[in-house]
Amino acid sequence: MTGADPRSRIPRTDQLLALPAVQAARARLSDQVIRTVVTRAQDRARRSEIAPEDVQDTVITDLAERRATSLTSVLNATGVVIHTNLGRAPLSPAAREALLDASGYVDVELDLTTGQRSKRGVATREALLAACPTAEDALVVNNGAAALVLATTALAADREIIVSRGELVEIGAGFRLPDLMESTGARLREVGTTNRTHLADYADAVSPQTAALLKVHPSNFRVSGFTSDVPLRELRALADEHDLPLIMDVGSGLLMPDPILPDEPSLSEALEAGADVVIASGDKLLGGTQAGILLGRTDTIQKLAKHPLARAVRADKLTLAALEATLVSGDTPVQQALHADPERLRARAEELGDDLGMPVVSHDGRVGGGGAPGVPLPGWAVRLPERAASFLRLGQPAVLPRVHDGACLIDLRCIPEDDDARVAAAAHAALGALD
Ligand SMILES: *Cc1c(COP(=O)(O)O)cnc(C)c1O
Repeated sequence: MTGADPRSRIPRTDQLLALPAVQAARARLSDQVIRTVVTRAQDRARRSEIAPEDVQDTVITDLAERRATSLTSVLNATGVVIHTNLGRAPLSPAAREALLDASGYVDVELDLTTGQRSKRGVATREALLAACPTAEDALVVNNGAAALVLATTALAADREIIVSRGELVEIGAGFRLPDLMESTGARLREVGTTNRTHLADYADAVSPQTAALLKVHPSNFRVSGFTSDVPLRELRALADEHDLPLIMDVGSGLLMPDPILPDEPSLSEALEAGADVVIASGDKLLGGTQAGILLGRTDTIQKLAKHPLARAVRADKLTLAALEATLVSGDTPVQQALHADPERLRARAEELGDDLGMPVVSHDGRVGGGGAPGVPLPGWAVRLPERAASFLRLGQPAVLPRVHDGACLIDLRCIPEDDDARVAAAAHAALGALD
């Protein structure tokens, strides 16, 4: 039979673009994205993957499904509180609201009373100083790594920084703090050994080339056994003797000591022990957005703030807004997950287990994000067959379980209790897909 080429029945681009549903999509999607969706459907019909009659519906469905961002929101059922692959700290409701408010025009550098320009980030600085009264001054930059680069550059470019060999950490994804610091032109003078460093090692290394002493909290690993390091207070005395600045990178950003994390240094303790500047991330234990936080003595912080590099690593208005709201509003999702009551976790897990007909097992959560390695957070998990994990990840909503020892474990520690029903629905769907 000799019919007309079916491809001649494929709707033309102008016809498809004129459809009301396609016109409506312009409110959310750019012309270019819409044209790509249209062209792709036409191409599929040309390759006979779909019928020419289905092109119109395909375009409409594809556009309805196309979101402006490809990031998928995930329910974290791993029990790992600061999950690097899930974007570290989830924000508090107050911080989320602040993000939205700051997303339009805001008075980030304007005094509305006088109509004059004001200093950027004043309110965030005040919130940091209120949360950590030991600090004289504060500066917020893009992330912890940027804070370290800024401190190293401003205080020690072309000169030496003395640091213990036991503290030269790789922070993940192949990034190493020593490489980062040397990229600024500072030279690292490594002292001591991997497991033991003494005050005399630092003292022997001081020379006219020395620009600063640095202590790094090795947050993502633990050396145990025959170990020793030099307390900050002793380094302070040495720094004073030679009139050197003392930098402490605490990593995780705990504001005050937390009894459940006895080995995690806090910003306030590091300042009390005499650091001139303390560095931390905003999105680890502090529970806020990605940010580098620098707290310390006014003269040191001002030196960093005035360095030209400060402009290249400055925090944006969204970060400043969310960080301020995180500090002012108190309890964060990170704190809630860290301090979740094991009995409540058990009750929730049992409810889910009963609902699914699956066993509840004891399960330790973790701090994660390179913080407090080896500190277990006792809790519970519902155990599913390992094969359920991929269905959970790809389900609606996406749920990330922990796969361990041939099982798929659902730990509710990092799930807001209001979302338990959504986890249950997702787990039912995943188990149903196994049959
Ligand atoms: C996480 C960490 C960093 C890097 O901070 P980012 O905010 O990820 O850039 C630097 N130093 C230490 C000790 C850390 O734990």
